Amino acid sequence: MTQWKSEIIGVGTELLLGQIANTNAQWISEQLAFHGISVYYHTAAGDNQDRLAALFRTAQERSNLIIVTGGLGPTEDDLTKEAVNTLFRRPFRTDETAKEKIENFYKKNRQSMTSNNYKQAQVFEQAHILTNEEGMAPGQIVEHEGRVWVFLPGVPVEMKQLMRDGVFPYLRERYVLSTEIKSEMLRFIGIGESALEDLLSERISNQTNPTIAPLASLGEVGVRLTASGASLEEADDLLAKERERILEIVGDYYYGSDDITIEQKVFELLKERGWTISAAESLTGGQFINQMISLPGASGVCTGGMVSYTKEAKEKALGVSPYVTNRYGTISAECAEAMAERAQHIFNSNVGISFTGVAGPSKSENQDPGSVYIGVKIGEDRAWHRFIHLQGSREQVQNKAVKKAYQLLFHTLNNGV
Ligand code: ATP
Ligand code: MG
Repeated sequence: MTQWKSEIIGVGTELLLGQIANTNAQWISEQLAFHGISVYYHTAAGDNQDRLAALFRTAQERSNLIIVTGGLGPTEDDLTKEAVNTLFRRPFRTDETAKEKIENFYKKNRQSMTSNNYKQAQVFEQAHILTNEEGMAPGQIVEHEGRVWVFLPGVPVEMKQLMRDGVFPYLRERYVLSTEIKSEMLRFIGIGESALEDLLSERISNQTNPTIAPLASLGEVGVRLTASGASLEEADDLLAKERERILEIVGDYYYGSDDITIEQKVFELLKERGWTISAAESLTGGQFINQMISLPGASGVCTGGMVSYTKEAKEKALGVSPYVTNRYGTISAECAEAMAERAQHIFNSNVGISFTGVAGPSKSENQDPGSVYIGVKIGEDRAWHRFIHLQGSREQVQNKAVKKAYQLLFHTLNNGV
């Protein structure tokens, strides 16, 4: 088995100016680590042929797997191939598939091509070509004096696709990589990152394979499990066992894995019961219902929504009694519950949900920014509400309020209402 010493080179002046971060290097490093390949250097250089050439010569001396991203495009400042050829001194040829793709692209977009567009289709004569499914410049692997050189476009989606479908299969075939990797993102809601880490502390500190990485994002926590095994089945099996152990501890907060979102999960739970939902929104401006309606098949589940922002709109359009708004204010538990009832009634749904509160930045009705009431009315049951106090900008308060509502609905539906 080859003892890999790999190096990742980012090409582009944008990287040096700080206009973009070298996320390609980060992602590739992570992937290489999972495959048991050591990474010794990250370097970056601007679009300058001499400095690139010098960097490539250094890489040729000290590394045996060199992955270069960026600078494969059609313009004058895309210099990767020219610079590395001061080392390789090999002839180029035209890759016909890439050439056709480029010609079709220009034909379809009715733009005229210039001769430098063909530059993207230029590959090294003995290169192993990796087909770019997401863009035009093909990836290439060139073996040069005992080193494996990989050239990939800078655009992250293209780079990732080429690593997955091209580079790893190539290395596996020629160099026998010892491992297969599988990962799964477990998604949790209604529990904070530190509380989750605390509950899982024993599993996290004893992790070996799979590795366990908690990640927090807005109002949610993810746990990424990554397993490596001699076969895909073995990796799958390790993942399944760890998932089971984790869910024994924090299963109550788990709503799904990988690409599922909380709104999809709530949508599915409603659909399973044959239930419909509607919303009356104030500070969230329609965001809740917008997210539901963005899901395919929404018409079977969402009956409608109303943005009733002012007091007058809450009374006249939505039909909340002025007795409620005058006596308790529009930002109140009573108003939230009345709004949920009115939504359920007007839009004739099983579930009515409502939002009223202060998105900020200033106070309203003498209440602090971030004060939010969410009202819920399900079937014939009495309406109820939750009061939450959220931190952050106006936009963050709105986003968190919507997320909180999905969390409430998830837990309510999941506990078998
Ligand atoms: P193209 O054919 O699109 O010109 P290219 O191979 O020439 O691709 P670049 O021009 O260097 O690649 O980069 C294209 C875009 O990809 C950049 O504008 C940037 O958004 C992104 N990108 C480039 N390098 C990196 C990197 N190391 N990390 C993250 N993103 C990158
Ligand atoms: Mg470019």
